[in-house]
Amino acid sequence: MKIIRAAALGMCFGVRDALALARAEGSNRPLTILGQLAHNPAILADLERSGIQMESDLARVQTTAVMITAHGASNRRITQLRQLGHHVIEATCPLVHVAHRALALLAEAGHHPLVIGQRGHVEVIGLTEDYSQCDIILSESDIDQLSPRPSWGVVAQTTQPARRVRALVQYLQQRFPSASIHFRDTVCQPTKLRQEAADSLASQCSIVIVVGGRQSNNTRELAETIRKSCPKVYQIEGPDQLLEHWFSPLDTVGLTAGTSTPDELVLAVEGRLTVIGNRLLAPA
Ligand code: SF4
Repeated sequence: MKIIRAAALGMCFGVRDALALARAEGSNRPLTILGQLAHNPAILADLERSGIQMESDLARVQTTAVMITAHGASNRRITQLRQLGHHVIEATCPLVHVAHRALALLAEAGHHPLVIGQRGHVEVIGLTEDYSQCDIILSESDIDQLSPRPSWGVVAQTTQPARRVRALVQYLQQRFPSASIHFRDTVCQPTKLRQEAADSLASQCSIVIVVGGRQSNNTRELAETIRKSCPKVYQIEGPDQLLEHWFSPLDTVGLTAGTSTPDELVLAVEGRLTVIGNRLLAPA
């Protein structure tokens, strides 16, 4: 059994920096992270062990210091926190800030704001909450339901597959041929690199393992991308979820991981895959 690691995989700098900031701030004072810092159970358990609280309901926050995650938040939400007397620590990824600025500039220029992303995802809530009118789409049927506008200002959630985003922008133009479409590509570079590496992995492998939290949007998207050319894809949260009967000695097994998956977890899964491979190849 051969194991191939994706050329780009695992934790991105945005999540890594947010995690380092949370650990540093949490060691100085009581700290609450608003929402999940990363959609990964191993990371969340580790933060909880170090005494950092995580709370998605603002009314239940008990500490003065509150951290915004790498996914970012709206100006409205940050102002509300300050008015409630909280000291706000922003761990927003710079590439999420890029998406916020791009949408703000488009809206200021008079284009109707539209986000390609998952409705209800924390990053998309942060991107859209400051606008009285902002459309969110993720499929052609969502576009079919939009009201016509003379011009659209379009950005994407940073973790959307670039191919889907391009296709939806094209469809938007087809659906509203006389409208002007102003698109800013805000899919982040780490996501693009992981998606491209996943494409290449899928073309070389008979089975692919994707490591990441069940709640992680980019991990799910990686698995979906791979499934298009390699139907045998398993998304797991850790090495214990690997089952030996998935594999055969002749398999070429691909390994990739979402942007919130820590390196130790990828190494542990790789180690367990090697053990399974050796066992399958050992003479009976
Ligand atoms: S996925 Fe991209 S935008 Fe999100 S934290 Fe990582 S680098 Fe930043």
